[in-house]
Amino acid sequence: MTQSRPRKALIIGAGPVGALTALSLHRRGWEVEVWESRDDPRGKDAAPSNLRSINLAISSRGLEALRSVDPSLAEQFQAEAIPMKGRMIHHVDGKQESQLYDPIHGQCINSISRPILNQRLVESLPTDIKLRFNAKLSNVDFAKRTAYGSSPADKKHKKKAVPGEEHDDGAIGAGGKEGKAEDKGGDKEDKEGTAFDLVIGCDGSWSKVRTSMMRMDRLDFSQQFIPHAYIELHMPADPTKPGGYAIDKNHLHIWPRHAFMLIGLPNKDGSFTLTLFCPFSSLATLDTREAAASFFKENFPSAVEIVGEKRLLDDFEKNPRGNLVTINVSPSVWSSHAVLLGDASHSMVPFYGQGLNCGLEDVRVLNSVLEKHRITSTTSLPLGETDPALELALKSYSLERHEDLKAICELALQNYTEMRSHVLSPLHHLRRHLDTV
Ligand code: FAD
Repeated sequence: MTQSRPRKALIIGAGPVGALTALSLHRRGWEVEVWESRDDPRGKDAAPSNLRSINLAISSRGLEALRSVDPSLAEQFQAEAIPMKGRMIHHVDGKQESQLYDPIHGQCINSISRPILNQRLVESLPTDIKLRFNAKLSNVDFAKRTAYGSSPADKKHKKKAVPGEEHDDGAIGAGGKEGKAEDKGGDKEDKEGTAFDLVIGCDGSWSKVRTSMMRMDRLDFSQQFIPHAYIELHMPADPTKPGGYAIDKNHLHIWPRHAFMLIGLPNKDGSFTLTLFCPFSSLATLDTREAAASFFKENFPSAVEIVGEKRLLDDFEKNPRGNLVTINVSPSVWSSHAVLLGDASHSMVPFYGQGLNCGLEDVRVLNSVLEKHRITSTTSLPLGETDPALELALKSYSLERHEDLKAICELALQNYTEMRSHVLSPLHHLRRHLDTV
C-alpha cells in the first residue's frame, strides 16, 4: 500500500502575501518551504526611524483575510495601525477640508508600517516551516516539478534592496548542497533544485514563477504603465505638537493638483510618509534644485512649510522614482502545480489602496476553495504527480477570482483621476454624501 505524506508547497517570496500563504497552508497541515531573495527581517528594528517609513493603508478586506488565518494577527495589526476616517484635502491657499469616508457608520482605513507588517507576519511563522532567506528563484522546470535558485557566493556581491524593485541579492542554499553549486558572477546556482507538489508565486510584480508558467502554457497576460512616477518623501514629527503630528493623524492627506498630487499617511512616531505622484515627463523638467524648489513652493506651500525646504528637496533628489503598473494574468494557475497570488497575479496602481488588501484576500479565497473542494493535507501520490482534485480546485479559484481582480484593477485606475482632480470639485462632496445616503 502506498504511504500517505503531507503535500509539499514551495512558496516563492516572503512578502506579506507569501508569509500569510505559508501560515495558512501550514495550518492546513501541508509541508511548507519558503524562498525569499532578501535578508531575514526577523528580530530587526523596523521602527520608522531605522528605515524609510514606507506605510500603506489596510482596509477591512485585508483585516478579514488576516482574521481568517489567525484572528490574533488581525487584532495585533489593528492595534498597531492608525485609523484614517477620511481624506483631508489641502488646497493651494492652505485651506484644509475634511471629507469623511463613511459619515454614517464611521468606517475607516488604517495606516500601518509596511516593514513592521511584513516582519510580524514572518515572525509569526512556526519553526517547522523551512524558511530560506537570500534565496532567489531562477526558474521553475514544470516538466520536472522542480524549482531552481541561486545564492550569493560572496556577501560582498550583494546589492541593496529597493522596495518594490527586482533586485538580484537572492540566494538559495537548497538542501545545504553548497558543495555542488557553481560560482557564477557572485551567485551560486543550485543545480539539483527542489521538488514540489505545488509552487506558489508570491514573488511580486516581476514574478519569476509567472515567467516560467508563461513558457509552459497559454496564459493571457497584460501589463500597462501609467505616465506617473511615485517618489517617497518624509514629513518628520513635530515635537511641539500633540503626539508629534503636524497635521491631523486620523486622515489620509491629499494635496490634489489635477496633473499631479502629494499624499500623506501617518506613522506611529508622529511622522508622515508623503508620496508625490507626478508624470515622468514633468519630473524631467525639475532637473535642478532651483526648479524643484519653485515647483514645491508654488504647488505645495503648506507641505514645504511643515517639512522644511531642505529636507523635502534632499528626499526629492535622492529617493528613487517608482513605476506604477497594472498587471492582469489569466488563468493564474497551472495544473495542480502552480498558483500566483498577490502582485504576481494582479498588480494595480495604488490609488484605491487595495493592492495588498487584495493579495491577502487571495489567501483567504484560496483557503476557502481548498476547503470547499475537500483538499486534504496529505496525499498518497508520489511527489510532483498531478492531482486531478487539486487541479480542479485551483481552476475554480482562478475563475472565481479573475473578474473581481480585473474590476478592482480598473477601479484603482479610475480612482487615479478621482484623487488628484475630482476631489476638488465642490459638487463632489455632496454627490458622495447623497450616494452614501
Ligand atoms: P511584494 O510585497 O512585492 O513581495 C514579493 C516578495 O517576493 C518580496 O519580498 C521579494 O523580495 C520576493 N521575491 C521577488 N522575486 C523573488 C525571487 N525570484 N525569488 C525569491 N523571492 C523573490 N496596497 C494596499 O493594499 N494599500 C496601500 O495603501 C498601498 N499603497 C501602495 C503605495 C505604493 C506607492 C505602491 C507602489 C503600492 C501600494 N500598495 C498598496 C500595493 C502593495 O504594496 C502591494 O500590493 C503588496 O506589496 C503586494 O504584496 P506581495 O507580497 O504580493 O508582493
